Amino acid sequence: MIKSKGLKVSVIIFAIIFSTLIFFTGCLSDVFGKSYPDTGLRVHYIDVGQADSILIQGPNNKNMLIDAGETKDNAVLNYIDSLNINRLDVVIATHPHSDHISEMDDVIKKYDIGEFYMPKVSHSSKTFENMLDALSEKNISPIAAKAGMSFEFDGLNCEILAPVNDNYESLNNYSVVIRLTYGENKFLFAADAEELSEKEILNSAADIHSDVLKVGHHGSSTSTSSEFLKAVNPTYAVISCGENNEYGHPHKEIIERLKNINTYITKDLGTIVITSDSKNINVYTENNLPIQNKKEAGSIQTYIGNINTKKYHSKDCSSLPGEGNRIYFKSIEEAESQGYTAHKNCIKSY
Ligand SMILES: [Zn+2]
Ligand SMILES: [Zn+2]
Repeated sequence: MIKSKGLKVSVIIFAIIFSTLIFFTGCLSDVFGKSYPDTGLRVHYIDVGQADSILIQGPNNKNMLIDAGETKDNAVLNYIDSLNINRLDVVIATHPHSDHISEMDDVIKKYDIGEFYMPKVSHSSKTFENMLDALSEKNISPIAAKAGMSFEFDGLNCEILAPVNDNYESLNNYSVVIRLTYGENKFLFAADAEELSEKEILNSAADIHSDVLKVGHHGSSTSTSSEFLKAVNPTYAVISCGENNEYGHPHKEIIERLKNINTYITKDLGTIVITSDSKNINVYTENNLPIQNKKEAGSIQTYIGNINTKKYHSKDCSSLPGEGNRIYFKSIEEAESQGYTAHKNCIKSY
C-alpha cells in the first residue's frame, strides 16, 4: 500500500520533471551555446564587424533582414543558415554603402525573397551594381522606401520613418529608418541616418519612442543627437561596429550620451539577440558576459576586477572572480586609476 503510493508519487514527480524538460527544451533556441526563447519576436544584431546586419524573426516565424554586412566571407549567409531559414519575407537594404550591402547579392540569389525595400538613390560601386543585378536576375522589383509608408511583417506593424526627403549630400541620410511594433514593445532601427535625417524625423512629428534603439551610424558622433535620443527614450541600445575600426566607432561622446541606457556593442559582445514576448524584453549575448545585471553587462564595461585580489581581468579570462566579487571597468586606465593591477595571464602588456 505504502509502496504503491510511493511509486505513484514518484511517477507523478517524474512526469512533472519530464514534461517541464520537454516544455523548456521545446521553446529554446541555441545559436551560440546560450539558450534564448524561440517564440515571440527575436531580433539578431549579427556580429559582422564594422558593418550592419540585423535578422528579425517574427512571432509566426516569418523573417526580415535589414542589411547584409561588409565582408564577403558569408558571415550573414552562415548565420541565416544556422537558423534553417530559407525565406526572407522582407529585406531592407538601408542605403548603398558597402558595409550594409556587401553580401546582399548572395542573399538575394540564395533565399526566397518576399518584399525588397531600398531608398531611391543609386551609387556607382560594384557592390551596388551586384545587388541590382541579383535583383533583376530574380525578377524582384525593389520598393522605394519613403517616410510615411508602413508595411506589415508577420502580423506586426512596421513604419518607415526615413528618408523624409529625396535629395541628400550624404548617402547615410538616405538610410531607411524603421520602427517595428510588437504588442507593447517597439524596436527602432536607425541604419546610418545622421543628425539631419534625425531632425527631419523629429519634424515629421512621428511617434518614435522605442524600447530598443539600433544606434545610428555605428555609434558615430554624426548621429544620435541629444534631441533624437530624448524622443526615442530607449531602455536598451545596440551599437554594431568592429574591433579597432578605423573610424574610432563608437565615439566617446555617444557612449557618454548613452550612459543611462543599457548599451550593448557587437565588437565586445559578438552577436546580440534581443527577444520580446510583446510585453517583456530580454537580451542575450554571444560572448559570456553576465547578463543578470543588464547595466553591468552593457559592453562599455570591458574589464572585470576582483574586489578581493585587486586584479583586473579581460572579460574572457578563464579565472574570472565570482559574481559577488566583481567590479566592472570601461578601460585599463579606469581599472589602474582605482588601484587595480593587471592579471598577467589575460591582460597582455602593450
Ligand atoms: Zn554603415
Ligand atoms: Zn553608411
